[in-house]
Amino acid sequence: MSFSGLRAVATAACLLFAVPVEAAPGRELIGLQQQFQKLHADYVVQLNSVRERCVELGLTPMAEEIDRLRELPKPSELRSEDLPETAQSNPPDVLTRDARTVWNRLRDLRERHAGDVYLFARRVLKAGFSGYAYNMVREALRHNPDHDKARRVLGFVRHEQRWVSALAADMLRNGYVWDDRFGWVLKSHLPHLEAGEELVDSRWMSAARAAEVRRDFRKAWEVRTDHYKIRTNVSLEKGVELAQALEEYYELFHEVFAGYFSTPDQMRKMFEGASSRSVAPPKLVYYYRTREEYVDRLKDRFPQIAQTNGMYYTSDRTVHFFHDEAAENLATLYHESTHQLFYEAFDHERPIAEEAHFWIVEGIACYMESYRRSDRGVSIGDPSYIRFENARQTLLVDRYYVPLQELSGMGAKEFQHHPQVGKNYSEASGLAAFFMHYGDGQYRDALVAHLTQLYSGDASIRSRARSLDDLTGVRYEELDRQYAEFLREFVP
Ligand SMILES: [Zn+2]
Repeated sequence: MSFSGLRAVATAACLLFAVPVEAAPGRELIGLQQQFQKLHADYVVQLNSVRERCVELGLTPMAEEIDRLRELPKPSELRSEDLPETAQSNPPDVLTRDARTVWNRLRDLRERHAGDVYLFARRVLKAGFSGYAYNMVREALRHNPDHDKARRVLGFVRHEQRWVSALAADMLRNGYVWDDRFGWVLKSHLPHLEAGEELVDSRWMSAARAAEVRRDFRKAWEVRTDHYKIRTNVSLEKGVELAQALEEYYELFHEVFAGYFSTPDQMRKMFEGASSRSVAPPKLVYYYRTREEYVDRLKDRFPQIAQTNGMYYTSDRTVHFFHDEAAENLATLYHESTHQLFYEAFDHERPIAEEAHFWIVEGIACYMESYRRSDRGVSIGDPSYIRFENARQTLLVDRYYVPLQELSGMGAKEFQHHPQVGKNYSEASGLAAFFMHYGDGQYRDALVAHLTQLYSGDASIRSRARSLDDLTGVRYEELDRQYAEFLREFVP
């Protein structure tokens, strides 16, 4: 049985180094980044000597592991490796004596380096760069997944030999087990479930009968994971699958936008371990059996619902979408979840980008649709993704372009009711990719700062959100030109 569904923070941020928005990225930050480079370079020298020994002894997997540890993220890449539930603290029995010596040396080296990176992260935080500090905590865990303090900063708690979320620890203590088909279930219920039965209204019945009852959305299945609660009348298995996909997405999202989600103050609390034991209220997702049901349930509140494939409602703080046999609709799910995660970073209701800059609200959600999982980890920003293809088509073939200054002048209504709304969505997707990736991500911090201000819980910050020419220090006309240049090269 895989345990992957309950990981609180399933991926390690080895490859992302988001830069802060709360402090101007000036000389101080560059100085810190250089210090990190030096720390890493010293580590690599030591790793190389262990690697040589691995080669002499023919220990290929260990040498490959070292290659992975040596590698630093390219700033242009947005991907992340999985973090194991636990490190192996003793060498495997099968190794020869010589190999065990090398193994131990590598473990010691990794542990020492993780400790150094963790201390460095604290200094980074003290200097006010919370996003960078967050990424450094995850960098520490890449080298030692068992680093106790770094784990706790990220909200893990230890349960027996594993690191799990606060929710998982509670469930396990209360006799629940995680199952990739059924989600969290009482251990004593598992034999019933395995025999094709289900508990509905305190009564065991056949799964087929239960599915009939659950077809009524009021009696739908509910799947709870670390950050989500999925309600669905499709099937329990599908609910569990979606919840797991969302949990993984949640992690990458938080790595990319680390600067957005943690002010230095919040991050200090995380370092003090204040957040690690509490279970936050879940994000809600409703997943309907059919498009008809989706339309039916929402049309009173939103007359144009039939033209959509998914919807995040700020008033009920819920993502709504539906099962589609013909198309696996995960892109829609990531899109709407992006809206949800940005919006729910603050508790109270508020208008977002009502007067200006609305394009990025949709642009960033379209961009995040490109989220993918592969064997080793997850990534975003694959140039072959359909939205980016459309962006290239729109600008380079159709020769359609709304200059960034004009686009930025549009508020929510103007953007959504524009006669060329489809083309503007394509442009917004391409521009979001541009600000995330251009020049090895040189504008990414500016973009994160822009989003932070547009979504801020503070009305005075929202209304005075700085524009992207201001935040990047580059004139709009030059950004337009760079965008065209970027799109020509942003190809699969
Ligand atoms: Zn949207």
